[in-house]
Amino acid sequence: MIYFNVHSGVNIPKKKDNTKNKSIEVSKPPKLLYFPMSMHIGKPANINVAIGDNVKIGSLLGTADGTISANIHSSVSGKVVDIVEMDGFRGNSKTDVVENDFKDEKISLEKLDDRIDVDTFVQRLLDAGITGKGGAGFPTSVKYKAEKDKMRYIVINGAECEPYSTTDHRIMIEYADQIVKTVNFIGNIYEIEQEHIAIEGHMEEAIKSLKLAIEKNEAANISIHELGDEYPQGHAGLQIREVLGIEIEEGSRTGDVGVLQSNVSTIKAIHDAIFLGDPLTKRAITISGEMINNPKNLMVRNGTPISHLIDECEGLKSEDITLINGGPMMGKIFEDTSYPADKDTTTILALEHIEAQEETACIRCSRCVHSCPVALQPIVISNAYKNNEVHKVPSLRSQTCISCGVCTYICPANIPLLENIQAINKQWKEIQNG
Ligand code: SF4
Ligand code: SF4
Repeated sequence: MIYFNVHSGVNIPKKKDNTKNKSIEVSKPPKLLYFPMSMHIGKPANINVAIGDNVKIGSLLGTADGTISANIHSSVSGKVVDIVEMDGFRGNSKTDVVENDFKDEKISLEKLDDRIDVDTFVQRLLDAGITGKGGAGFPTSVKYKAEKDKMRYIVINGAECEPYSTTDHRIMIEYADQIVKTVNFIGNIYEIEQEHIAIEGHMEEAIKSLKLAIEKNEAANISIHELGDEYPQGHAGLQIREVLGIEIEEGSRTGDVGVLQSNVSTIKAIHDAIFLGDPLTKRAITISGEMINNPKNLMVRNGTPISHLIDECEGLKSEDITLINGGPMMGKIFEDTSYPADKDTTTILALEHIEAQEETACIRCSRCVHSCPVALQPIVISNAYKNNEVHKVPSLRSQTCISCGVCTYICPANIPLLENIQAINKQWKEIQNG
């Protein structure tokens, strides 16, 4: 059983004003695009093309290798000019390099209608290379390959609780009809009892747009669940508990308790794959932070170098900055702007240079304990790591950590609690794997 901390979470500045009212602009594609075979959790895809091959938008560049993997498609038309090993957001990976001919020739999958069965639906998710767009990159076909009879609920995550990020917000405003249509469609084919879209209460415009779309599409079966404003609200287990009052056993998936859950931008990608026949070749990304000249929400083709996106936002205010892939709570610092945008790049932040804060002794304020949303004792786990007591991982439930970063954020002694917890969990996993 996962134990949740009822009064957990923190109020952190949202910092969304720079982009939340800016429509998603279509990013102009560059000359060269880079497609790592690892754009998702699980095994990298197998390269499907050779140097010199001509490709179109939607051509298969890599095929899924096994169950937890995903197809990779070209986002431009042109020619494969190289196949290299290069670093990206998911580490070093074989990468197809495609030279854009700017003709935008396209091949599509057959358009499907809303009368398809679950097997056809899941096969399309696989063919179209759909992966979770909330940041984790889990292949969506695996999630939806659930036993139809056991599925009772849909919970769509529109929380977007990380500061700065506004693409889910814009997707809900600009594509509300498509979201509602697709939730309805999934609900019908799985014969779902309850359909919910969960959104933070402050996202008023998105809530208004979705309510209008529900009315227009006569989809009164879909309810909007307004969440609180505390961080985090987006974690699957926390959200399902909040919306449905169901708790998920440790080590179980949402499907085990009869819940289909997806991020709202994943639902948009599912819409395009089913009703338009479009594989996943683009996504919306927020480019923001105090050090970017003109923050934007951009619709970006997969494989576009981050440097190109920064240029489209009129560049950086200074070279002395910190770049983050993702939000400031859960994102990762990076330096190399040649990394390509991939399927789960949600946000790129350019912040003022972050100096490492000096760690001091724990003052036993208990703030980390009271704020942890899954009721862990972060300082106790951190101390176990420092004392080489990896055997304590099970008794401290350390692997229940959802990596939300609240404990590190709130600690007045600047102890890198999350870092230490991730390190001891990694040690434990290595021991388990022999
Ligand atoms: S990072 Fe882990 S330990 Fe820290 S508050 Fe979040 S869930 Fe709890
Ligand atoms: S928040 Fe920091 S100082 Fe307070 S108890 Fe936790 S580790 Fe110690």
